[in-house]
Amino acid sequence: MPFSKLGLSPALLHVLASHNYTRPYPIQQEVIPAILNNNDVLGIAPTGSGKTASYVLPILTNLQQATGSKNRHINVLVLAPTRELAMQVSDVFKLFSPSLPQKVKTLAVFGGASINPQMMALRGVNVLIATPGRLLELVEANAVHLSSIQTLVLDEADKMLNLGFKEEMDRIFSLLPAVRQNLLFSATLSNDVNNITQFLLRDPLVFKIEPEIESIDLITQLGYFVTNEKKGPLLRYLIKRDNMQQVLVFTSTIYSADNVADKLRKNGIDALSIHSKKSQGARIDALSEFKAGTLRVLVATDLISRGIDIQFLPYVFNYELPRSPKEFIHRIGRTGRAESPGTAITFVTPADKEHFKVIQKKMGKRVTMIDFENMDLRLAKPSGKSE
Ligand code: AMP
Repeated sequence: MPFSKLGLSPALLHVLASHNYTRPYPIQQEVIPAILNNNDVLGIAPTGSGKTASYVLPILTNLQQATGSKNRHINVLVLAPTRELAMQVSDVFKLFSPSLPQKVKTLAVFGGASINPQMMALRGVNVLIATPGRLLELVEANAVHLSSIQTLVLDEADKMLNLGFKEEMDRIFSLLPAVRQNLLFSATLSNDVNNITQFLLRDPLVFKIEPEIESIDLITQLGYFVTNEKKGPLLRYLIKRDNMQQVLVFTSTIYSADNVADKLRKNGIDALSIHSKKSQGARIDALSEFKAGTLRVLVATDLISRGIDIQFLPYVFNYELPRSPKEFIHRIGRTGRAESPGTAITFVTPADKEHFKVIQKKMGKRVTMIDFENMDLRLAKPSGKSE
């Protein structure tokens, strides 16, 4: 079914076409009509499935019928677990809203950034995307009122709960008007998510998408048996040999992320690290440089393995294995999105061998392993430099 048959505002159809949204993804086909029809929705769908547009497009369409509300009384609230996701969702609203006849103002607010500019910017906002803690600070400061909300979206509800936002979320729910539309998206349906679902949603329409399994087939996977000492040279060798640009490298610790990025830079490969100890500004800068293609390598802990969508990411490295097979799938899910195939390369030390077997079993896919002992790594070392 084409987008034009889903009941969206005609003004949105041109923008969809100009951004290569040629056909709705499965989740969009199901969820868009349900939201337009004012149903509550439970979407079990991870990032990469097209879930963001599945709620942004009908919300924008419904807002075209909304009557103006009092200043600082927002119409739509999207709760998101991280600043990165909040900004990403806000970008999708901002991509589509300018084409609409009735103006829609969108703002993303999150902690770790100064609150005053956010307070000022809240004037006249219709759609607010917020992390829970910062939203409550803004409510307490009377900078925003939640009593006119028509639609509430919880995006990545499972992650919000994992990050310990339950109390903040409950407080926010208590401030909302009784009659409203509720949309909840989550990659998994854990017991905690189930509890919130039962409490929050009225007769929800439930949609479940499992693109992780599908998208795994789009990813070319390679593994290298390697010792810890040889990982750095091997990484540099592969990046240089294949002239890889836009490379996302996952490590399991903050120390290791910094260390890998340092070594790459010392060897003439542009790299930055991103993790929870980095300042808000540094995280945003690194991510946007990486997205824009001006930063060649981003070294990350699992902080960004979920929730962040980078289009057409060609290479992901597992420099160190994550503990759970699920996290492994989330990591490599950054590549092989939709119709853009990518390569995921995993380094496996002798100590990792058994664990990697478990991961492959859970993933339902065997990874081709390469014996790097016979490779000539000299290319990895610029003349005169050593480890
Ligand atoms: P999401 O799951 O919302 O993070 O979306 C994943 C990616 O798919 C984003 O980069 C979107 O821009 C892209 N996308 C979403 N829906 C479509 C569509 N119908 N056609 C093409 N690209 C899409």
